[in-house]
Amino acid sequence: MISPGLDSLTFDNQFVRQLPGDPNPVNTRRQVRNACYSRVVPRQAAEPKLIAWSSEVAELLDLEGDPFTTDDASAVFSGNRLLKGMDPFAMCYGGHQFGNWAGQLGDGRAINLGEIINRHQQRWMLQLKGAGPTPYSRTADGLAVLRSSVREFLCSEAMFHLGVPTTRALSLVLSGEQVVRDMFYDGNPQYEPGAIVCRVAPSFTRFGNFQIFAARGELDILRQLVDHTIRFDFPHLADHSADRYAVWFAEICRTTAEMIIEWMRVGFVHGVMNTDNMSILGLTIDYGPYGWLENYDPNWTPNTTDATGRRYRFGQQPQIALWNLAQLGQSLVSLFDSIEPLQAGIDLYSSTFNAQCHAMMLAKLGLSVMESHAEADTKLTNDLLNVMSSIETDMTIFYRRLADLRLADTTDELNDSVIDPLNEAYYVPEQLTAEYRVAAVGWLRRYRDRLQLEDISDAERRRRMNAVNPKYVLRNYMAQLAIDKADQGDYSLISDLLELLRHPYDEQPNREEFAGKRPDWARERAGCSMLSCSS
Ligand code: AMP
Ligand code: MG
Repeated sequence: MISPGLDSLTFDNQFVRQLPGDPNPVNTRRQVRNACYSRVVPRQAAEPKLIAWSSEVAELLDLEGDPFTTDDASAVFSGNRLLKGMDPFAMCYGGHQFGNWAGQLGDGRAINLGEIINRHQQRWMLQLKGAGPTPYSRTADGLAVLRSSVREFLCSEAMFHLGVPTTRALSLVLSGEQVVRDMFYDGNPQYEPGAIVCRVAPSFTRFGNFQIFAARGELDILRQLVDHTIRFDFPHLADHSADRYAVWFAEICRTTAEMIIEWMRVGFVHGVMNTDNMSILGLTIDYGPYGWLENYDPNWTPNTTDATGRRYRFGQQPQIALWNLAQLGQSLVSLFDSIEPLQAGIDLYSSTFNAQCHAMMLAKLGLSVMESHAEADTKLTNDLLNVMSSIETDMTIFYRRLADLRLADTTDELNDSVIDPLNEAYYVPEQLTAEYRVAAVGWLRRYRDRLQLEDISDAERRRRMNAVNPKYVLRNYMAQLAIDKADQGDYSLISDLLELLRHPYDEQPNREEFAGKRPDWARERAGCSMLSCSS
C-alpha cells in the first residue's frame, strides 16, 4: 500500500500519448530522430531521503494527508517507485548555447513522470531532475548534486513568491549516493552528495523543442508539436483557427518580455539563457549558475563559464531574450506563408518590453505612468541607475530605504544629509564622496519634484514601493549557507529560507539578518559570487 495522498493522483499523459516517441526502449545515449521523446525509467537511488518540500506546490497537485511524512514520498520523488498512471520519459530538444547551434541536447538529467490533472482541471507535469541518465545524457551522468539542487529548490519557490513566472519545486530528496563533480572545471574533482528535485510546471517545453525539428528538417513533427502545444499549453487560443500560429508566437513573445521585466525588477540574473533554457510559457526555467544582483552592476554575471564574453550579464538579458525569440521564430518559418507574422511577434516583444519596463521602473519609485511625461521619466529612471552604479550600492536595500525617505511630507530644502538613511545600501563608505552626494541629492530633488505630480503622501508611496521592491531575495550567500549546513547533515536552513522567502515583501523583524548587505566573506567565495555550469 502506498500513502493514499500519493495514490490518488490522476495522470493524463497527453504528451506521450499524442506525439511520436522514440521506438527504441533501450536507455543508451544516441541521436534520436523523428521523435519528441524517449521513454526512460528513473535509476534506483541507493537510499533516498526527503529533506524538503513545498506545501504550496503539494496543494497545487491536491496532495493531501501529508504524504511527505512517510517513506513513500522519498521513494516516489527520487524515482525509485512509480505511481499508477506514471509513464516516464525524456524530451528531445536542441538549442543555441552561448550563441552557437549545439544540435541535440534534450533532457539529459530530467525525467518527466507524467501529467497530473488536479481538481481544478489544471494540468501539471512532474519532472525529476537528477534521476539518472537518458538517451540525451551525452557524456554526462544524468545526476545532480545537493548544492545545485538546494539552489534550484529554493530559487524556484522564492521566484514564485516574488511574483516572477517560474517552474515550481515540489521536493528535494537526497539520493544517498556520492557524485563526482569538478566544480570549476579546473582539475579538482570532488565527491558531493547526489540529490533529486521534483519540478512542477504546466509544461517544460522549451524553444529548443521546436528548433531541433526545424534543424533536422522534420517538419511534420514540428507541426504536430506546435499543434499539441497550442492545444494543451495554450487552450485559450482554441478559437483562433486561421491565424493561430501567429497569435501563438505573439503570445510567446509577450510572455517572454513580461518574464524578463520581472527579472530586471528583482535583480535576477539567469546566467545561462541558452535557447534550450527558454520556456515556451515564459516561465523561468533551469536554475543553474543564476545569481541576484547585490551591488547594482548591469555588467554582472555570476556564471564563471561566461566570465569572458559576459553574454548573459544582467543588463543584456532583454536583448538575449529577443535574440532567442528570433531563433525560435526562425525555426517556425515553415508554418507560415510569409515571415510578417513572425516579425510582428518580435516587434510585440520590443513594444511590450519597452512599455512595461518603463512602467516597472516607475513603479519601483512609487510613480505611475504619465504619457505626457514619458521622456522626462525615462531620463529620471536612467539617471537613478547611473547614480546607483557609480558606487557599490545594494539594489534591494536601496529601493527599500528610498521608500522610507521623507520627501512629500516636508517642504524643507533637501540637503546633503537626506541620503543618510540610504547608508545601509552602500558597500564601501569611502566611495561616498562629495561628488557622489551632489549627484545623489540632485537626483532626489528631481524625484521629489516628480512626486508632486502624483500627489501622494510618503506613507502611500512607501506602501506602493514596498509592494514591488522586495525586502528579501535569495542572495547567493544565503543559499550557500543553507548548502554548507546541508553538507553537515543539517537541513533546517533550507526550510527556514523557504519560509522567509514566502513573504519577500513583508517586514520580518526577527529575520533582519537576511535583509542586510552581502557579508564580506561572501564577496569572492565560490557559490556566492562565482558559479559555474557544473551542477
Ligand atoms: P544546462 O546547461 O544545464 O541547461 O544543460 C544543457 C544540456 O546538458 C541539457 O540537455 C541537459 O539535460 C544536459 N545536462 C546537463 N547536466 C547534465 C548531467 N549531469 N547529466 C546529463 N545531462 C546533463
Ligand atoms: Mg538546461
